[in-house]
Amino acid sequence: MAKYHIWTVGCQMNKSDSERLASGLDQLGLAVTDRPEDADVVVLNTCVVRQSAEDTATGMLGTLRRGSTPRSERLLAVMGCMVGPRQDDLRRRFPHVDVWARPQEYAPILRAVGDRLGIDAEGCIGQLIPGAPAVATFVPVIHGCDKFCTFCIIPYRRGRQVSRPLDEVVHETALLAGRGVRDVTYLGQTVDAYGHDFESPRDLADLLYAVHGIDGIERIRFLTSHPSDMTTRIIDAVAGLPKVCENINLPFQAGDDAVLEAMHRGYTHADYLDLVSSIRSRVPGVAISTDLIVGFPGETDAQFERSLDMLREVRFDKVHAAAYSERPGTIASRKQPETVGRDEKKRRLAAVAALQERIQAEVNAALLGAELEVLVDGTTRGAPSGRSRTDKLVYLTGGNVDVGDTVRVRITGTSPYSIQGEVLAPATAGRRA
Ligand code: SF4
Repeated sequence: MAKYHIWTVGCQMNKSDSERLASGLDQLGLAVTDRPEDADVVVLNTCVVRQSAEDTATGMLGTLRRGSTPRSERLLAVMGCMVGPRQDDLRRRFPHVDVWARPQEYAPILRAVGDRLGIDAEGCIGQLIPGAPAVATFVPVIHGCDKFCTFCIIPYRRGRQVSRPLDEVVHETALLAGRGVRDVTYLGQTVDAYGHDFESPRDLADLLYAVHGIDGIERIRFLTSHPSDMTTRIIDAVAGLPKVCENINLPFQAGDDAVLEAMHRGYTHADYLDLVSSIRSRVPGVAISTDLIVGFPGETDAQFERSLDMLREVRFDKVHAAAYSERPGTIASRKQPETVGRDEKKRRLAAVAALQERIQAEVNAALLGAELEVLVDGTTRGAPSGRSRTDKLVYLTGGNVDVGDTVRVRITGTSPYSIQGEVLAPATAGRRA
């Protein structure tokens, strides 16, 4: 039996794309293997959001160069954000790659595999939905992005915003529930812009209301939100629908207004704080996480301090900070020359990490003794573990628990990055913690 291996780097969208491609390869009768050297079909699902991610992908391409392994008949495909609309340069640099496919473009890969195996791919592949999904699974609902932040390559690689039809998402969610999914996260680069591109515009709240009644689904989340698209209607849906988790990822990217303007983010420091306050007043106990860039071109020490101010003011549950990395083809790469050196970016990242670790330690410590609802989704370092509704990683003790169980837990210990909980009793599905 022919085997395939999919190597994935990057965001949840890429992970989800890989699951969907795997579903197509399964339907073609291929078996999965963990070892690329044993595979007849190897697919690299790439990310170019930062130079380090692109370097990882090109390094992997180097090790897979045809002729350097015994599998000279192997079909090698590259998909994801490394593949833009023009591929001439990539084809010249990597002639050993058989297929190039843009994000979510599964057909060229499946067709090439079908041709190689003598199977009519179009005739035997149904919907690309994971056959054995994890208990907590991602579902992309909007592709691309219209925002064109000056530092970001995504709109050039994933294209303009296109939302999937609402009834298609509802149907897929029901199918996934039937396959054991309990926690679904709707994905988009700007997920809160969902539906804005329809002929009769809808919004993310419509989607949340539409999927809420699906049996089997206990938790609903969405990721990633743009502050400019987060509306009162969406916040009210989070507040009012019991299955929608009180957990919002809301990148602020920079704390200083001049830097935000240079990034073309479309809001100010004060706008962002107002939005957080509106969310917190409507959704008690909500966990807010964020993304932040340090060392954007022109960012001074004083402007960077405004980002630290934002961390102190909001006290996020989680922060993903990255050093600015110039991406050829973006507005910033053409018009905003780098001014912050590598050592200074490292210093700023370390300052963010130290401050946020203190804040997270305090935020999590406040949970000591509380009772939370945890969905068991696997084991971490040998112990059963799961996620709270607010997406805290919880290590469990006591009780006999299985993946897919939802249990009530008393918090017995906390750290900045995880919490420990003693299992009390099975919880009722769909209830708030
Ligand atoms: S909102 Fe900005 S950072 Fe996010 S994907 Fe779109 S362009 Fe990139």
